[in-house]
Amino acid sequence: MRWFLGLAAVVGVGLVVFDVLPAAYVFAPLLSLLIFKVGTASFGSLRRGASYIPDGPPRPVDTTRERIVYWCAGCGAELLLLVRGTEAAPRHCGERMTDRRETASQPDATS
Ligand SMILES: [Zn+2]
Repeated sequence: MRWFLGLAAVVGVGLVVFDVLPAAYVFAPLLSLLIFKVGTASFGSLRRGASYIPDGPPRPVDTTRERIVYWCAGCGAELLLLVRGTEAAPRHCGERMTDRRETASQPDATS
């Protein structure tokens, strides 16, 4: 489909150059097609940027083995993650929070 539109654009510009068609008959549809492409591309980028949408059911985090703490650089708030809904860090104060992972130390075999 893309090659067909490119070919149609080349043929249309050729018809305008050789004065077969008025320029408005060729450039108006090309301009509308360009606006449509930019609009659909911007909606596509919005959909790809929605990483906060979970891709599955929430999974509980085993806090005895790993503690995941999110820290807000704006106000200093900290959150302990108990249930994970998505891999993306949550937002606070309009910014992504910084994650800090603490793994539980292995029990000492000598004691
Ligand atoms: Zn904050």
